Amino acid sequence: MKRYRPPCSVRGCTRLVRSGPAARMCDTHRQRKRRNGDPNVRACVRKKELKPYVTEVRRLIRRRNRDQIESALIQIHSTLLDDQRTAVAMREKSHFRGPRWSQQASHELVRVLVDVDPVESAFTLGALYLMRQREPYRFPSDASFVFALVRAWRKQTDLSYTSYWDNDAGRVKKKPRELSPRTVVTIAELLIEAYGRFLGLVMLSERREEEARRDIRKDLAVGFAYSPPS
Ligand SMILES: [Zn+2]
Repeated sequence: MKRYRPPCSVRGCTRLVRSGPAARMCDTHRQRKRRNGDPNVRACVRKKELKPYVTEVRRLIRRRNRDQIESALIQIHSTLLDDQRTAVAMREKSHFRGPRWSQQASHELVRVLVDVDPVESAFTLGALYLMRQREPYRFPSDASFVFALVRAWRKQTDLSYTSYWDNDAGRVKKKPRELSPRTVVTIAELLIEAYGRFLGLVMLSERREEEARRDIRKDLAVGFAYSPPS
């Protein structure tokens, strides 16, 4: 006898859940949730879409003390790399290795950090925060933002990809190596902890610039609305 399969729990989806005792979603939505942290997010953020925001972070920095900021970013990068290398080494020596996702997170952090530019990689994280500010609808949940953040950060290096031969396209294609959702969340937590202050200041200077632009618009509007007393 066939087991009863209820419909997918995502609103508007009429497909049946994948079989299995804990399944709540159809195959498509389950895959989207695994890949993007949210079953409602169809596509991930493309490099091309993120580029204008990276430019904006760079522009914000250029107006401040750029050298000082960049040297702080290099420090953050090397501290994070050292910490994660130590974590990997400690676990290898110890009997208790800790949870698997935490090991995988440290390995992935080391793998990416050694290969990326410390300044550009901080800009990439800042760009995602600006993107969420301007296009909040792209991130329907915190999880979807966290997943996009980690993906964009990993995308900076080819080391996060596996290549495979696509017969239909007739060429080699790349896809990011899948990490478990818990690993993604752990990486995000470590990145946000390390870069939290930088990200906060990027958002703050962006907000100040926006306020200044609004003041100019207001001055213009008030100025033009003025009519001299006759
Ligand atoms: Zn579904």
